[in-house]
Amino acid sequence: MFIKPLFLDIKDFILETLFPIVCVECQTEGAFLCVPCLSKLKLVRFQQCILCRKPSVAGKTHLTCLTKSAPEGLISIFDYRDQKLAKLIIDGKYNYIQSIYEFLGKLAAENIEKTGFMEIIDENFNLVPIPLAPSRHKWRGFNQAAILCQAISKQLNIPVADILVRQKTTKTQKELNRAERLVNVKDAFKVNGTVKNRNFIVVDDVITTGATILEAARTLKLNGAAKVWCLTVARD
Ligand SMILES: [Zn+2]
Ligand SMILES: [Zn+2]
Repeated sequence: MFIKPLFLDIKDFILETLFPIVCVECQTEGAFLCVPCLSKLKLVRFQQCILCRKPSVAGKTHLTCLTKSAPEGLISIFDYRDQKLAKLIIDGKYNYIQSIYEFLGKLAAENIEKTGFMEIIDENFNLVPIPLAPSRHKWRGFNQAAILCQAISKQLNIPVADILVRQKTTKTQKELNRAERLVNVKDAFKVNGTVKNRNFIVVDDVITTGATILEAARTLKLNGAAKVWCLTVARD
């Protein structure tokens, strides 16, 4: 009973001694972002409609933009053009640092109140991570969206429903424009569980063109989900 926590403590101790956590901005030891740098982290100035990307109150999809398969809205917390945030996300992703995503998820949850989002989700919502392709998941060792979901869930008491799975391997989106991305991710996901009449919040780290998260939302809607919101830690 005591062996595992003790072992984990020792592992963490060794890891932290060999690779101390430092602030991505000023290299102060102790946290991925020290308190002074954290206080300068840029929040998004206004929420946007996920479809036309023009400003919208509380991130709601404009009624004139809304379609049957589109999500009800999008909430993004931080501005990806803030170098500190971009560094955190890139570090987490390419250096396989899972705890950066735990940190980011907690940070996003702590700042969500300012967006008015908590007043919108009064019903029974579940957090849904965007799944990674199995090969990429294996390579990285974790799905960053799933880590974010767990951290947000812990902080805000919203359950996680790991209900989406990849059914198609997609090319990496980096080199593609928005139209190509939409084609690339079309039918990328399927559901694994009951979706009908349930409410979901699809979670990802960054939204750029929105192709992936829109496709995830579309999959849930086509399978009968009642309400679907999108939540991203950062917006490009
Ligand atoms: Zn700092
Ligand atoms: Zn719109």
